[in-house]
Amino acid sequence: MARKDSILKMRDLLMKRRDALRRVLAGEVSSLKSLRGQKGGDLVDAALDAVQDEISSKLAEAESRELANIEVALERIRTGSYGLCEVCGGKIPLARLNALPYATNCIDCQRANENSSGGHFLGGDWSRVLDGGVLDVDVSFTDIETS
Ligand SMILES: [Zn+2]
Repeated sequence: MARKDSILKMRDLLMKRRDALRRVLAGEVSSLKSLRGQKGGDLVDAALDAVQDEISSKLAEAESRELANIEVALERIRTGSYGLCEVCGGKIPLARLNALPYATNCIDCQRANENSSGGHFLGGDWSRVLDGGVLDVDVSFTDIETS
């Protein structure tokens, strides 16, 4: 039962983190809007604004990604698959989940993944997975129509 309690506690933390991120993201969008509204046409100000905009959008990007990870983790908690390795189906140790709440692989499978890809894939960094894989799926409507 200890594991279940820990996962429930994790769910509370994830939900709090999700709410905080949502507030931050909402705040960033409105501060970006107010920044744009204040532009006086001065070149230095415009350059600073551009840098500010870039930093803000990079931050927003990272926060959006974390938010997506949290949504996935919460969905997995809801369906009961949270804390189970997506590759081998084994239980991911609580110590690993505490350090890395969005982990979906156990350490063994994570290492195997790192070895086979040859890269330094760090758990929690989903950018390469999200940027490289999922969106490349080519859905052809003609296939659906002819079948
Ligand atoms: Zn595994």
